[in-house]
Amino acid sequence: EADTDPEKEAMDDPPLAGVNVMNVIVVAAECAPWSKTGGLGDVAGALPKALARRGHRVMVVVPRYGNYAEPKDTGVRRCYKVYGQDMEVSYFHSYIDGVDFVFVDHPVFQHQENNIYGGNRLDILKRMILFCKAAIEVPWHVPCGGVCYGDGNLAFVANDWHTALVPVYLKAYYRDNGLMKYARSVLVIHNIAHQGRGAVEDFFHTDLPKNYIDLFKLYDPIGGDHFNIFAAGLKTADRVVTVSHGYARELKTSQGGWGLHRIINDDDWKLRGIVNGIDTKDWNPELDAHLSSDGYTNYSSGTVKTGKPQCKAALQKELGLTVRRNVPVIGFIGRLDHQKGVDLIAEAMPWIVAQDVQLVMLGTGRPDLEEVLRRSEIENHDKVRGWVGFSVKMAHRITAGADILLMPSRFEPCGLNQLYAMKYGTVPVVHAVGGLRDTVAPFDPVTETGYGWAFERAESGMLVRALGDCLNTYWNHKRSWEGLQTRGMTQDLSWDAAAKHYEEVLVAAKYQW
Ligand code: ADP
Repeated sequence: EADTDPEKEAMDDPPLAGVNVMNVIVVAAECAPWSKTGGLGDVAGALPKALARRGHRVMVVVPRYGNYAEPKDTGVRRCYKVYGQDMEVSYFHSYIDGVDFVFVDHPVFQHQENNIYGGNRLDILKRMILFCKAAIEVPWHVPCGGVCYGDGNLAFVANDWHTALVPVYLKAYYRDNGLMKYARSVLVIHNIAHQGRGAVEDFFHTDLPKNYIDLFKLYDPIGGDHFNIFAAGLKTADRVVTVSHGYARELKTSQGGWGLHRIINDDDWKLRGIVNGIDTKDWNPELDAHLSSDGYTNYSSGTVKTGKPQCKAALQKELGLTVRRNVPVIGFIGRLDHQKGVDLIAEAMPWIVAQDVQLVMLGTGRPDLEEVLRRSEIENHDKVRGWVGFSVKMAHRITAGADILLMPSRFEPCGLNQLYAMKYGTVPVVHAVGGLRDTVAPFDPVTETGYGWAFERAESGMLVRALGDCLNTYWNHKRSWEGLQTRGMTQDLSWDAAAKHYEEVLVAAKYQW
């Protein structure tokens, strides 16, 4: 796998043509570069382009949270009833990299730019209902390049609970009435922890036929019966995708399914894991603009031996750490919450700082965990930096300058930072869970294979053991270390492979009755 040539692969595997060319409408609450809070935004920005490169006609529908520069008002106005109130939306459009981006505009979305999921429960629900109703009508009313998509060979791809009403509306408003007979829906699970839960009465806000209530009703031992949008979406979608094979397995367990495991197990044939790709323009050490100043440098797998030490020195200098080539620099980047396991790093801190290493952490989130970062830096100023903030530039520079990236996430549907790390010759040490287990095959010193270290339980002791093995290889087995770096950097992590798998799912949905 190490020396796959993406171009050759693409030639061996020509895009679909003729009857299988599809109209694909991806509906998401966020889409990079306009709006992004995490992995979902990256996927909505990149997957559609990769599907378009395979020959499909592809659209993304996303709310218009701000006054974006490129998209133009189409002049199309439509009215939808939400909470008994008529709400008129406008549709904006722009065509970029072969994809139609359609933005749904209404005052409820404006100024939500830095607060996409903010507000009280009913406000959020109202926004998502309006957005889903508006999205489902796009193929009929919004011309793209002069022509509406219509329902020929049409597939909707909805994402997470926010847009899980799309498959439900498709069924209730159209399919049940003999319309859009050939349109299909796929629901992608990026994170099952958020489900659009509410009181059973919330159902009446959705404007669905009464008998649909059972799709939404879910019982849990603590709250009893409640309203659950993700549950209804999962039951109604023709297919379900999640962002790794590991997470697909975990979703079926009572621990990993967060109350939805029964529904997922009932229709287990619908579910498929597809590992996210990465944006190889944005995250590429050869082109990375954040490495072109302040002593950093661009590098490739051919020049990693000189390029990476230069980036490491620049990082040490920028952060005021001792500039030393032979001290391993360990990085951590991520949202600071229980999921990401930064507290396990804090627990392991006495051991870490007793080693000859440097540790650089970047993150924002829970105030008590931000405090952990600050305190670690103060207490171990010669070795540790804890940068509290959201800085894309520092994320790129740490990824380039560090030797090792820690990801002790308790759960991780896919995870992007470990993929970026490998692309930059930075060796990941991860908790073997979800997408981390899929993408970081453990190093095997006998066969000289694998990409990093993966420990079995989210415990600081396990983290220390894995990190200890990793450091041992760094210090004492230089050839093995270089092998790890080269294998990581030369993998095909692009979206092209993932897009092909999504295409298979869409085709399968189409032929299913
Ligand atoms: P999640 O979607 O659960 O937050 P992912 O690993 O899928 O986790 O994606 C997180 C994205 O956010 C990555 O691109 C990562 O680099 C970025 N990121 C997270 N925290 C920060 C931060 N403090 N500064 C800059 N980028 C960050």
